[in-house]
Amino acid sequence: MGAGNGRIGQIKARDRHLWLISISVIVALTLTIITIYAPDLMGIPMAPSRAELSTYLSGLAVLICLFCLYVIQAHARLDRLRDELVEKEQEKTEVQRLLREVEERSNEHLKTKEALEREMAERKQAEERVVYLAYHDGLTDLPNRRLFEDRLGQELSRLRWRKRVMAVLFLDIDRFKQFNDHLGHHVGDALLVAFSERLKLCLRPGDTVARLGGDEFAILLTDLAREGDVSLIIQKILDSLIKPINVEGSDLSVTTSIGVSLSPKDGEDTSTLLKTADMAMYRAKEEGGNSFQYYDPVFQKQRSEWLSLESALRLALERQEFLLHYQPQVDLDSGRVVGVEALVRWRHPEKGLISPGKFIPLAEETGLIIPIGEWVLRTACAQAVVWRSGGFKDLRISVNLSPRQFRQKNLIETVGRVLKETGIEPRCVELELTESIMQNAETSVKALRRLKAMGLEISIDDFGMGYSSLSYLKRFPINTLKIDQAFIHHLTDDPDDPLIVTAIITLAHNLRLKAIAEGVETADQLKLLRLLRCDLIQGYYFSQPLPADEMSGLLAEDRRLS
Ligand SMILES: [Mg+2]
Repeated sequence: MGAGNGRIGQIKARDRHLWLISISVIVALTLTIITIYAPDLMGIPMAPSRAELSTYLSGLAVLICLFCLYVIQAHARLDRLRDELVEKEQEKTEVQRLLREVEERSNEHLKTKEALEREMAERKQAEERVVYLAYHDGLTDLPNRRLFEDRLGQELSRLRWRKRVMAVLFLDIDRFKQFNDHLGHHVGDALLVAFSERLKLCLRPGDTVARLGGDEFAILLTDLAREGDVSLIIQKILDSLIKPINVEGSDLSVTTSIGVSLSPKDGEDTSTLLKTADMAMYRAKEEGGNSFQYYDPVFQKQRSEWLSLESALRLALERQEFLLHYQPQVDLDSGRVVGVEALVRWRHPEKGLISPGKFIPLAEETGLIIPIGEWVLRTACAQAVVWRSGGFKDLRISVNLSPRQFRQKNLIETVGRVLKETGIEPRCVELELTESIMQNAETSVKALRRLKAMGLEISIDDFGMGYSSLSYLKRFPINTLKIDQAFIHHLTDDPDDPLIVTAIITLAHNLRLKAIAEGVETADQLKLLRLLRCDLIQGYYFSQPLPADEMSGLLAEDRRLS
C-alpha cells in the first residue's frame, strides 16, 4: 500500500511538471508571436530581422521538440506507472483474496480443531466408561469382583504393617431363585438393586460392598479394632432387612445368609479369604438362612470329607463297589431261618468297607439312594430266587426302603419291574419302611395299599424310635413290626425296656401283626424275648450279616436256634 501511494505521488508530481512546462512553452510561443507581429507591445522598437526571427523560431522549435520528448517520455513513464498501479491493484486484490482464503481456511481449521477436541473428549469419556464398566456391576453400579479383589489385595498389603483385623463377608439372598422364578427376572433385578442400597446404608465410609454375580455380594470391612466389631455390622445388615423391600408395589420379605472370614486368621490372600467366606456362607444357608457363620476349619474339613465321599458314591454304582450282606431272621417257635434281611455295604477302593450309617444318609440327601435302592432290591430278589430254587422254598427276603425311595413317584413301577425281571414271587419279598412314612400318612396309605396289592409284605423298621401314630398304624396294610435294637440292647439291664418291648409285641399281636426283635446279641435277651412271645429275632447271637456264599452255607447246614 505504501509503494502504491508513492507511485501516485510521483505521477501527480510529473503532471505538475508537465503543466508547468506546457505553460512555459505557451508563454514562450506567445512572446515569440508578439515579438514577431507586435514588437511594440514588448517594448521592442523595431521588428526583428529575418535572422533574429529565424534564431527565435529555431530556439522555439528546439524548445517544443524538447517539450514533446519530455511529454512522450512522461506519458510512457506514466503508462508504466499506471500499469504498475493496475498490477499493484491486482496484487492487492489477489492478496485480499488470499487473505480471505486464509481466513476461511483458518475458520475451517478452527472448526476442525473444535470437532477434534469434541471427539477426543467423547472418546475419553467413552474410554472412562469402559474402564468404569470393567470394574463395576452394570445393574447395581457397585464394584464388581475384579475391583473387589483389587481392593482386597491392597488392604491385605496394608494389613501386613498394621495390627488390625480385616473381614470379608460373603452374602447370598435366601430363596432368590424363587423370587426370580415366580415374580419374573425384572423383579429379581429390581430386588438386587434395592438389596444393594440397603447394604450400602449399613456400612462405614471406606468399607466396600461389591456384587460378585447373580445374588452373591461381598463386603470388605477394614481397619477393625477387634473381631467383635464384625458381628455388630452383620447384625445391622440383618436388622436392615426386617422391613420388607418394596419392589414394583409388592412388599418382599428378604433375608440373607452371610459367611465371614477374618484376616489374617482365616487367610492371608484374596482367593483364600473369599473361598473361606463362601464356605461359611453355605453353612449359614444349610442352617436355614437369615443368619451368619464364621469360617470354621473343623466343620469345613468334615464337609470336604463329606463332599469327597459324595463324589466317590456317585461312581460306586458303575464301578460295582456295592455288595449285599444277608442277616438271617429266625422264627422263635421252630428255631429255623425263615427270612434274611439284605444289608448294603460299600467297598471303597481306598477306604475299605464303609458302614451304611455313614453313606446311606449321604445317599439319601443326594438322591443317590434311588438308583442304589433299586440295585439293592434287584440284587436281593435275584439272590432270593437262587436260594428258593435251591431248595429253600419258604425263604423270605427283606429289603430296606428309605423314606426318599418311598416318596419317589415311580416307586410302584420300579418295584413291579424288578419283580418281573427277577421272577421272584412277591409274597416272598418284604419291604422294610421306617416310621417316618406316617408323617405323610394319607399318601403313604395309598402307596402301601398298592404295594400290598402287588402281593408284597410290609414291615415297619426301627419301630418305637420315630414318629408313630397308632391310629394310622391300624390303617396301614402292614405285616410286621421290627422292634428297634435300642430297646433290645438294654433289655436285661434296664427295667423300662422290657415294658416297652412287651407293649410293642402286645400291640403287634392285637393288630394281628408279627413282632421281630433286631440286634439280639445274648442268650438272656433271647430267653426274655421268648417269654414275651416275640415271633422272630435277628442279631449277632444267631448270626452276623453274611456274604451271599456264606449265607448259602448257613442255609445248607440248616442251622437252627436252640
Ligand atoms: Mg432294616
